[in-house]
Amino acid sequence: MRADDETAPFRHRQPQAALPLNRRQILGTAAVGLAVAALPTSFALADAADSKVDVLLIGGGIMSATLGVWLNELEPNWSIQMVERLDQVAMESSNGWNNAGTGHSALAELNYTPEKNGKVEIPKAVEINEAFQVTRQFLAYQVKNGVMTNPRSFINYTPHMSFVWGDDNIAYLKKRWEALKASPLFAGMEYSEDPEQLRKWVPLMMEGRDPKQKVAAT
Ligand SMILES: Cc1cc2nc3c(=O)[nH]c(=O)nc-3n(C[C@H](O)[C@H](O)[C@H](O)COP(=O)(O)OP(=O)(O)OC[C@H]3O[C@@H](n4cnc5c(N)ncnc54)[C@H](O)[C@@H]3O)c2cc1C
Repeated sequence: MRADDETAPFRHRQPQAALPLNRRQILGTAAVGLAVAALPTSFALADAADSKVDVLLIGGGIMSATLGVWLNELEPNWSIQMVERLDQVAMESSNGWNNAGTGHSALAELNYTPEKNGKVEIPKAVEINEAFQVTRQFLAYQVKNGVMTNPRSFINYTPHMSFVWGDDNIAYLKKRWEALKASPLFAGMEYSEDPEQLRKWVPLMMEGRDPKQKVAAT
């Protein structure tokens, strides 16, 4: 939201430390906390509810933090205020314990590749993966600029698995893999129905499983 008050009180303030975060608040929390730490003072304090600002960000989650960092870079002279109703930032969905912690890149999310008339459609998956690459670029840029200093505290590489059983699901997963691997974004994806291979990929899921059950994974 933009207001037209040129006398907004928080212009040109220096960054301050982030709101207190404890060790259990990881991933999204760390990203939000680090981002908030890099923002002007008005981001971290909601003590002037009746003041006028150029931008008011409602809620201290990853969305406000990301948008705020972006706006602060593009329009450094704008006054920006973030208000959060709880005691700390990132206590709701953006808290590391409140979401699955994966970067949505459409590698494993089968709902982004519906099957229609026998064909697996991949445009949504490509769009989601491209958006994830932009997110990675954004985060890398922030690390390069010193806004975030330790990427391993909030982003780490790990294989994304899709595991299915039953003839129909196996046929779908294979078709999905064949459709996706044609795109450079998914070229590294692997598919297997071989129990030995699957035992290496997902040992706990294969443990004690009926050897006659047909399974597959990417
Ligand atoms: C179970 C689950 C699993 C998920 N898994 C993944 C995943 O693996 N990968 C992925 O990318 N995404 C995942 N997501 C989605 C992701 O967590 C959310 O899209 C993201 O955290 C939303 O960020 P946000 O800033 O919009 O909201 P939030 O982090 O919820 O922040 C909103 C903030 O606004 C505050 N607020 C609300 N109303 C007001 C008000 N009136 N005034 C002031 N403050 C207010 C709240 O207290 C809160 O702090 C998952 C979500 C859930 C619930």
